[in-house]
Amino acid sequence: MVQVVCLGEVLIDFVSLESGVSLIEAPAFKKAAGGAPANVAVGLARLGHNVGFVGKVGQDSFGEFLIGILKENQVNVSGIATDADARTMLAFVSLRQDGERDFMFYRHPSADMRLTPEEIPETMVANASIFHYGSISLISEPCRSATFHALEIAKKAGVMISYDPNLRLNLWPNAETARQEILNGMRFADFMKINDDELEFLTGTRQLHDGATRLRSFGPALIVITSGSGGSYFYSDRAEGMVSGYRVQAVDTTGAGDGFVAGFLSCLLRCVKSGEPFVAPAHAELEACCRFANAVGAIATLTRGAIPALPTRAQVEEFIKHQGTVGM
Ligand code: ADP
Repeated sequence: MVQVVCLGEVLIDFVSLESGVSLIEAPAFKKAAGGAPANVAVGLARLGHNVGFVGKVGQDSFGEFLIGILKENQVNVSGIATDADARTMLAFVSLRQDGERDFMFYRHPSADMRLTPEEIPETMVANASIFHYGSISLISEPCRSATFHALEIAKKAGVMISYDPNLRLNLWPNAETARQEILNGMRFADFMKINDDELEFLTGTRQLHDGATRLRSFGPALIVITSGSGGSYFYSDRAEGMVSGYRVQAVDTTGAGDGFVAGFLSCLLRCVKSGEPFVAPAHAELEACCRFANAVGAIATLTRGAIPALPTRAQVEEFIKHQGTVGM
């Protein structure tokens, strides 16, 4: 049985082979599977969980490639729909000289945006212990309604709901719509993970306690804010704390946040009681979950790309044993 269902975009990232160039200058690109919810699904599968992915790809070679990658990683792909009339989502990415990422998305519309409520595998969602989603699937219809439909099924069945908005401002019509819709998407969530930049965007503050208190008022009982190499901070009505990150020589931070979510949910699964309302675990458990998730996030920075860098449980345990050592 599928323990965790991840819903959202799965796409091809075409990553510039040269860094320090804009997309105009980039001479060649390497294809890599991407999409935050798909990365989380693979992350959880590597950690030994039974995971299903729900989304939509085009009936094209890239869609086939993505389904193949998920299958190879033991992710259940029976919830992936295919579209004969729209292509698989693509993104072209390069790291510019100033350290910022230059992004260009092909979704006019892409297949992922055309997921419909009828395509949601209701039984798989209702029988899971955790349902995880992001905000990219909330941007346009019919995918937005499909996401809310899945959220309603999960809520009704007492499935714990996890949300990582993964702000991609240039996919939204404007910043205000992005803020409103991401906050609106929170009303179903039991657990929410964001990074400190997203915290500032959503709440207007980088102050962890104040920001978390504001987010709490939108619904989630448990909020975790990640701060790159700084580690992670957790907040609930009965517990709050900061867990410092591991010291590593990061090569590529792509997928660190998704690895973190996979690690955190893997840990949280032990505390989730299916069919019962979610209660945030106590301080010690949350600290342990952040520590484990920090390790997964740190390991994800040691290798290029998101999916190739996600560790197995044995690798995380080994890393924690030699905590903080540079490299693995
Ligand atoms: P996102 O990718 O969502 O922006 P972060 O960059 O905050 O998320 O990374 C998520 C987690 O991954 C951090 O909380 C931390 O535990 C780990 N991590 C990320 N970057 C580093 C780094 N340079 N060194 C050590 N750990 C890191």
